[in-house]
Amino acid sequence: MSSILISGKEIGQAIRSELSIRIDRLKNRGITPGLAVILVGENSASKTYVANKQKTCEALGMHSRLLSFESELTERELIQAIHSLNNDPEIHGILVQLPLPNHITETEVLAAISPAKDVDGFHPINIGKMMLGQDTFLPCTPFGVMKLLEHSHIEISGKHAVVIGRSHIVGKPMGQLLLQKDATVTYAHSKTANLKEITLQADILVVAVGRTKMITSDYVKTGAVVIDVGMNRDENNRLCGDVDFDSVKEKAAYLTPVPGGVGPMTITMLMVNTVKSAENELLQDI
Ligand code: NDP
Repeated sequence: MSSILISGKEIGQAIRSELSIRIDRLKNRGITPGLAVILVGENSASKTYVANKQKTCEALGMHSRLLSFESELTERELIQAIHSLNNDPEIHGILVQLPLPNHITETEVLAAISPAKDVDGFHPINIGKMMLGQDTFLPCTPFGVMKLLEHSHIEISGKHAVVIGRSHIVGKPMGQLLLQKDATVTYAHSKTANLKEITLQADILVVAVGRTKMITSDYVKTGAVVIDVGMNRDENNRLCGDVDFDSVKEKAAYLTPVPGGVGPMTITMLMVNTVKSAENELLQDI
């Protein structure tokens, strides 16, 4: 048996093609969706992520603005920059690239972003709305995973979904979104006892840990759907996931590759959220 590969590259492309129609419609009404990305410091991985986000914006004909600051920037200065973007009519989405330098409190900064422009979906108000199942900006990575499942026609209702990882940006919202689609959800994390016993029960296994090839085939039930969120570097500095692709592909029914799985979906859903924000502005004008 060899898994069906779920291609985030292809599904992301299909979603972006549909999105360009919505962008054209907005432009015809005089609105160009605009995304501002804030980068603080010299983290090279962050720089790559930011460059990819800008490239995708530009390819879609969206407006993108980069605010790049030295790592010495104070929290107050950063919050002031966010406030001015909150009031800038050209900007519909604001994203602060994480991680921030240690002297800056992440929660304070994320809370300073207007919930109406919080296209990462990290503001406490938007997280609350997500928990309540209300319309809001969903965090891009779990939102992208849901789209991968939907486009691959994978049944979620009644399935046992196991999410390994409980970060605010991936694991926790991931479990919530699966729950809203009527999965029975189990969270696992670094203190979980007998991880393998739990993952072997998973019909859908989402792995968001950040440990190279941690999930080998002996953690996977035959016929499971395995979504690998991990983005790590292996011993040869090649991009790889949290799942041991070569062994798991012999057991899982569906599997996402790394690269080309969840990664392209995260950026795509950021664009979707930014366009949604611009459309919301149009609705307010009516
Ligand atoms: P965090 O480091 O914030 O969270 C990791 C989670 O894994 C924590 O909840 C931690 O548990 C848990 N964990 C750590 N070790 C183990 C273990 N041995 N067994 C079980 N659980 C464990 O990472 P993120 O959620 O931000 O990211 C996870 C991965 O996803 C990373 O590789 C990251 O690069 C990638 N990523 C990929 C994205 C994409 O677009 N493809 C986007 C965002 C992230 P505890 O809470 O107890 O510490």
